[in-house]
Amino acid sequence: MKAFYLIGSPVSHSLSPLMHNLAFRKLKLPYSYKLMEVKASQLPEAVKALRSPSVGGFNVTMPLKEAILEHLDEVSREAEAVGAVNTVANVGGKLAGYNTDVAGVKAALEKAGVKASRAVVLGAGGAAKAAVYCLAELRAEVIVLNRTLARARRLAERLPATPVKLSRRALREHIPRADLVVNATPVGMDGRSTLVDRSLLRRQQAVLDLVYRPLKTPLLREAEAAGAKCIPGVEVLVAQGAEAFRIWTGFEPPVDEMMKAVVAELEGSS
Ligand code: NAP
Repeated sequence: MKAFYLIGSPVSHSLSPLMHNLAFRKLKLPYSYKLMEVKASQLPEAVKALRSPSVGGFNVTMPLKEAILEHLDEVSREAEAVGAVNTVANVGGKLAGYNTDVAGVKAALEKAGVKASRAVVLGAGGAAKAAVYCLAELRAEVIVLNRTLARARRLAERLPATPVKLSRRALREHIPRADLVVNATPVGMDGRSTLVDRSLLRRQQAVLDLVYRPLKTPLLREAEAAGAKCIPGVEVLVAQGAEAFRIWTGFEPPVDEMMKAVVAELEGSS
């Protein structure tokens, strides 16, 4: 019996146990996925415990995605470039870090058939960096609009993107010229707010909202009204979980069943 964990604070609302425990059951693997509340000050002690041979690996969430880096023995190219780790594999006590949000964004865009050449990313935090890394690999030109310009500039020092201060004027200038808009801010989690309304969007665009709760965010409602292609954040959530599962087990997870379970849970809680 091996255990897998999500560490961070808070972790109680996570959908990862639902996804991974379902996949372990379906593949008849003697594994379980549990939540571990870990604050930044408790990280060194938690990492020591997570090196145990009974632990197969763990996911990392806020506020530990960057702080975990210095505790790892190896870090993947993506995680190094993004500067954040969300998945760790424990191989014989050695800890290897990955950023599966990159693969999650890539899988969601591929599934939707989106080939972006000019993208606007809203936000400059961890999710935005994963999206920009992925878009750069797809050779898209990326403009990062962020409330705090200094943070967008820091992102652009490590990844190929043009940093711009988020403002109504900047939105009016850059959104209509993009073929893909990615929301990587928490705006919309309240079910009411959006940074972009339908007047700036059009039919030929795609909109990916990384916010997954609610399933249909205000931004996606605006995008739908404008006739744009809508990609909900749940696509990235399940795809990043599936990639973590592959890293940990070497097996292909039942992605469609994971998606059904997560969507049912989100519909039930909305
Ligand atoms: P983060 O590192 O805290 O970054 C948040 C970003 O949002 C920052 O750039 C921040 O701007 C901006 N922001 C926050 N509130 C804002 C507001 N009211 N108006 C404009 N900008 C605002 O967070 P993160 O980890 O990148 O996560 C961002 C979102 O993506 C969260 O909702 C998270 O749940 C979601 N996410 C989803 C998935 C998925 O699988 N679907 C994966 C990862 C993350 P400042 O720099 O100015 O503070």
